[in-house]
Amino acid sequence: MELRIEHLSKQYSNGVQALDDITLTIPAGMFGLLGPNGAGKSTLMRTLATLQDADSGTTQLDAIDIRTHKDDIRRLLGYLPQDFGLYPKVTAYDLLEHFAVLKGIDSRKERKEVVDGLLHQTNLYNVKNKHVGGFSGGMRQRFGIAQALIGNPKLIIVDEPTAGLDPEERVRFHNLLSDIGSDKIVILSTHIVEDVADLCNNMAVINKGKVILKGEPLPLIDAIQGKIWKRFIEKSELVQFQQDYKVISSRLTSGRTLIHVYADHQPEGGFTQAHGNLEDVYFTAMAGLLGTEPSAAHSTHAQAA
Ligand code: ADP
Repeated sequence: MELRIEHLSKQYSNGVQALDDITLTIPAGMFGLLGPNGAGKSTLMRTLATLQDADSGTTQLDAIDIRTHKDDIRRLLGYLPQDFGLYPKVTAYDLLEHFAVLKGIDSRKERKEVVDGLLHQTNLYNVKNKHVGGFSGGMRQRFGIAQALIGNPKLIIVDEPTAGLDPEERVRFHNLLSDIGSDKIVILSTHIVEDVADLCNNMAVINKGKVILKGEPLPLIDAIQGKIWKRFIEKSELVQFQQDYKVISSRLTSGRTLIHVYADHQPEGGFTQAHGNLEDVYFTAMAGLLGTEPSAAHSTHAQAA
């Protein structure tokens, strides 16, 4: 099973080029689509979910063209949109059953089995008779996954699912996603690098509508080892350091400013080697210093998204 996206472009009527010649092949398993806010992730997710059309390019799930065979794709699709609205005064059970009817599960007995199964899977069975309006953020997102999984979809798209979740809920949500199954394509769109680091065996970074990096996280992390250097600086020194070094990130740590810079050899001036992680890969790509495609960016600095 494979999702092939080729030369996909989309410009909104206000002139924003949300997708700019995106080409990606997404195999079965968890795929992380990473990028800052405004990168074009939701536009791409909505296009794959058949909710809007691109201006040009093609998207195919195996042999099925998404644009011309929307109904076929919808039968295979589970989608958790970024702004997942719920009817607040309906119970979890009733709402999930309603979605099951919409998905075409006509037999009442089969619906009950599916709904009960999904409520167990998402750890919501014990609150099945509660109104979803009273759910916490984490419960809502788990409910969102339950509705996305109705009908055993082969392509599952979750758009920014962990934004706003507390750490415990995020771990729970990660566990739920990781159990979905390796025979399906699960696309996780997020601006949170940890989501991808924890879950995904394939990934791409997009920025300003373009793919700036794609590959498997572990080899990408290996490739930057020995090239990431760190040191603490005064906050007031940041601009100077940005001029003198390829600063990929700066962050406050225990009230002090820690910078990571990218360099083939140890830079002078008190730097020590950092163990590069996926966040360093991300910021290095965002700074235009790596990539599968030539980047026009010459900026040497990326702030946390
Ligand atoms: P992301 O999901 O990565 O935050 P989006 O796909 O939502 O990115 O947005 C990509 C760009 O397209 C942004 O500049 C955003 O403002 C713009 N955009 C998104 N939706 C619309 C729309 N319906 N009309 C005009 N511009 C839009």
